[in-house]
Amino acid sequence: MEAAQALDPAVEKLRALVRIPTVSHRDPTLTDFSAFDAFLEELARQFPMVHERLELTRIDTHGLLFRWPGHSAERPVVLMAHLDVVPVDEESPWQHPPFSAEVHDGAVWGRGTLDDKGALVAACEAVERLLAEGVTPNQDVWLSFGCNEEVSGTAAQLAVDELSRRGVTPWFVVDEGGAIAGEALPGLVVPLGVVGVTEKGTTSLELTAEGRGGHASTPARNGPTVRLAKALSRLDARAMPSRLPETTVEMFRRVAPHLPGPLGSVLGKVTDIDRLRPLLGKALVAAGPEPAALVRTTFAITTLSGSPAINVIAATAKAGINVRVMVGDTVADAVAHVRRAIKDDDIRIDVVEEGEASPVSPIDDDAFRLLEATITATFPEAVVTPYVMMAATDSRFFTQICQRVYRFAPFRMSKAQRQAIHSYDEHLGIETFLEGIDWYRRLIESLPA
Ligand SMILES: [Zn+2]
Repeated sequence: MEAAQALDPAVEKLRALVRIPTVSHRDPTLTDFSAFDAFLEELARQFPMVHERLELTRIDTHGLLFRWPGHSAERPVVLMAHLDVVPVDEESPWQHPPFSAEVHDGAVWGRGTLDDKGALVAACEAVERLLAEGVTPNQDVWLSFGCNEEVSGTAAQLAVDELSRRGVTPWFVVDEGGAIAGEALPGLVVPLGVVGVTEKGTTSLELTAEGRGGHASTPARNGPTVRLAKALSRLDARAMPSRLPETTVEMFRRVAPHLPGPLGSVLGKVTDIDRLRPLLGKALVAAGPEPAALVRTTFAITTLSGSPAINVIAATAKAGINVRVMVGDTVADAVAHVRRAIKDDDIRIDVVEEGEASPVSPIDDDAFRLLEATITATFPEAVVTPYVMMAATDSRFFTQICQRVYRFAPFRMSKAQRQAIHSYDEHLGIETFLEGIDWYRRLIESLPA
């Protein structure tokens, strides 16, 4: 612990909230809702003016929807975050206890610092400070905080329902997803201010092969387990075609002047990057699983089951497949691809979870330009660019009522920090946490009349 150094009061607020283990579980009976009660109480204690002066609607079990009335309600904006966190794997080698919020090396360490309590506290702190100064925003500002983003996102859907019931059509929405990303591409020295303008869809399929089963002493060839195994290896060998979405092309257009080495000089010289589209798609697929996931729908074979006993032939064999649907593809395209790839019409394909890719939010647009300008003002050396998010956020529900949904958290994150999300050693730099508060302030103060 760095004990001697006095910390900004906002940092102590973050630490107090990180210490409360608001862990959400897919099975709600495992969730300790008393931690969520404690979190909401602590939040009210830390941000008294936000709770006194803004209208508050409780959403779902522990979600919050605040309305800060502005001079106008014509172009309302929604700032989102979530208060739940993913569980901690007891075996993982955290350097500092995950729910202690200790300060080391100029950072607060703990589960939820990056995902997503840092943003929640920074947004609240910005509003609290503006309220203290007697500021009224030009437009209505809504704060929407989900309580189950990591498992179902029902709170976000209910917040959307509440807003539609009240006739609110947000001008734009900001949620987690992007960041000021260091080491974003190999050799790139400048940080990228990545703003997610769409996200891949999450879909789950189940493949089922059926047969007679029976005693393991008299096996027949090509039983359900074998047919399923063949189908899976065929699927593994056949990827869906890559498609370079306009968002990714735009990212390369903006990043090219800053890229060192041969890639930079090639991209930098080409004024019309569109001509490189096929080449770029192939290069990304060849560069490894992460870049490949940027340009195509992916299939991860996750669960497998067959016979319940080693001396019984399975009558049914099942495999679970987690699909991430690329913008431009649909769930139906993905299912059709699996159907073709496995070459076995007797295997049943069930869609057990259906999520399409989110619509693409515009970038040639005043709201995006406002984000760009405020990001550049707070992080002058960052190159701002739209990108396709691979993970899912609560903000996907808001695409039902809003065309401009942007995913960006105003914090500098190194590659190691990004990898710590949902893993171990999650930590948020104190200096950049304070920059984040400034960014939310600036954004609210920049809302046009
Ligand atoms: Zn999150």
